Amino acid sequence: MTFADRHESHARSTPGAALRALPVFALGFALVASAWIALAGVSTSAFTFSLVRQQLVPLVVLFLVGYGVAGALAAAPIFISRRLAARRSHEGIYVGAMTAVSVWAILVVSFLPLKGSETFVDAGRLTTFQLNLLALVGVVAAGLLGGWLAAVLVGRVLSAARARLTAGGRAVLALVLAVVAVGLLLVGSRGSAQMARGSDDRPRVAIIGVDGCDWEKLGPLVDAGQLPTFRRLIEEGCSGPLLSIEPLISPRIWTSIATGKGAEKHGIRNFVNERNIPVNATMRRATPIWEIVSDGGGVVGVVGWYVTWPATDVRGFLVSDRVHSLLRGPVQMLQSAGGHPTNERLETFGQFDFDPGYKRYPHDEKRYQQNRIVDEPLRWGFLRDTIYGALAEAFLPRYRPDFAAVYYRGVDFVQHFFWKYSDPEPYGDVTAAEIERYGDVISNYYRYQDRLLASLLETLGDDVNVIIVSDHGFTHRLDIDPRLPQLTGMHDVRGVVIASGPAFRNGATIEGATILDIAPTALAVMGRPVAADMDGRPLTQIITDAHLDAHPILSVPSYEHAVASEPLEIGSTMDEGIKEKLRALGYIQ
Ligand SMILES: [Zn+2]
Repeated sequence: MTFADRHESHARSTPGAALRALPVFALGFALVASAWIALAGVSTSAFTFSLVRQQLVPLVVLFLVGYGVAGALAAAPIFISRRLAARRSHEGIYVGAMTAVSVWAILVVSFLPLKGSETFVDAGRLTTFQLNLLALVGVVAAGLLGGWLAAVLVGRVLSAARARLTAGGRAVLALVLAVVAVGLLLVGSRGSAQMARGSDDRPRVAIIGVDGCDWEKLGPLVDAGQLPTFRRLIEEGCSGPLLSIEPLISPRIWTSIATGKGAEKHGIRNFVNERNIPVNATMRRATPIWEIVSDGGGVVGVVGWYVTWPATDVRGFLVSDRVHSLLRGPVQMLQSAGGHPTNERLETFGQFDFDPGYKRYPHDEKRYQQNRIVDEPLRWGFLRDTIYGALAEAFLPRYRPDFAAVYYRGVDFVQHFFWKYSDPEPYGDVTAAEIERYGDVISNYYRYQDRLLASLLETLGDDVNVIIVSDHGFTHRLDIDPRLPQLTGMHDVRGVVIASGPAFRNGATIEGATILDIAPTALAVMGRPVAADMDGRPLTQIITDAHLDAHPILSVPSYEHAVASEPLEIGSTMDEGIKEKLRALGYIQ
């Protein structure tokens, strides 16, 4: 054991050093994996390994290489340096820290082959493999430096403590560490042997959320043939307005869409709770549809849906809505390494050059304002959607879930900030230069959303019944808030619903649908009972007779469990970032 045999001679210890460090290897791995679960909220019945499983062969290879390379590099100084060898208390910590960092590197790198998102792979100067390799080398190198510093610091503390322990005490400490390591690994791998897959004979449903999607923008682009995927779904299925419920607060409405219940029942009323803490999934008081399906034996896949952090355990997988905060930095760094930085991609949305260093200019300067409007809504929304789009495409084929929910945010963001330039007339103060710069950002974003949708549908398969919804529509905002003059678009109560797939009628117009009807409709299509305590009703008028004959509408009184869990006001490192975004949108003070 690493800490128990300090009295052995240096000469005999050298070859065994790495072996004795194994428990610390394991501990480092388990700690990093657990921290990742807690922070980002990616839940599957088997968290860590399901992440790795997504692209199994390349990841196993990367994992072994990363693990081996980092371990060997980390152990090298121990073998080389007499001084370190003489203070062997460092070795395990040192190697453990390296390992932890290398596992982290593997997790980051595992998101690299973000297939389907042209940003990452196409047109870069490097191939995906070269990009992966470069990223791996870069992150491991950075990890070695950071790990070394950590090792020196932690090693000093531990060796001081260890000097005071008896041989028996050290053995107990080593045993405890080993047990903790094995325990954490077991928790991390829980259920990994039985990865759930959806059934082949039951009707499948995917609800795709496009925040703020509005017919006024969508319709003309569809008619002009600019959104081929939306167009196909509209032509092959049913579509119409979706009535939302005031106040038009996104987390509140998305939770209503997921539960079929109003805010007074589900409890998510605003972006933050009474104590100004961003709302999280533990504050939700009604059961969302993915939990209903999962509890009913189905397999679900949820990606980026509002108020899903911290992730709950489901049959299938759930990627919470805070994962992008952790991935944004690394993803951007890696994009740049591929010679295809986000910033260049942003410039394809309008006629502007983006200066990422704009924050050095005084805030009242034009060039600050011009870059900020690109940075805040567009860069942020684009990265977020790209990350969740890629995650959805990575996870969905593995599980082929009976029910999927995927949420996109960018359309809402760009409409808040760029509405004025796409529809300048009511404002009266928009210059021709501004229209040229930003006039096409919204329509270009809809085109990007259409491409995201196309690759998502490809991943989901032909037999899935797709329901596209928006939480609200959009309109111009003329009573501009002087503190937030850049916000020129605002929410409107009429959103969008498009339903297309084998269960849905062809070419019908959807009338009188509200956001509360989506969950009951999805349950009905899947042949699962609708709960009587839901506020919405299944939209039977859009379901084919044949489907209704095969799957008559069933009902249960309620899906709510008798005992609700305590809401957790979990503070997280992400809270400030979240609130900053909400302030920029004028949602909170
Ligand atoms: Zn909004």
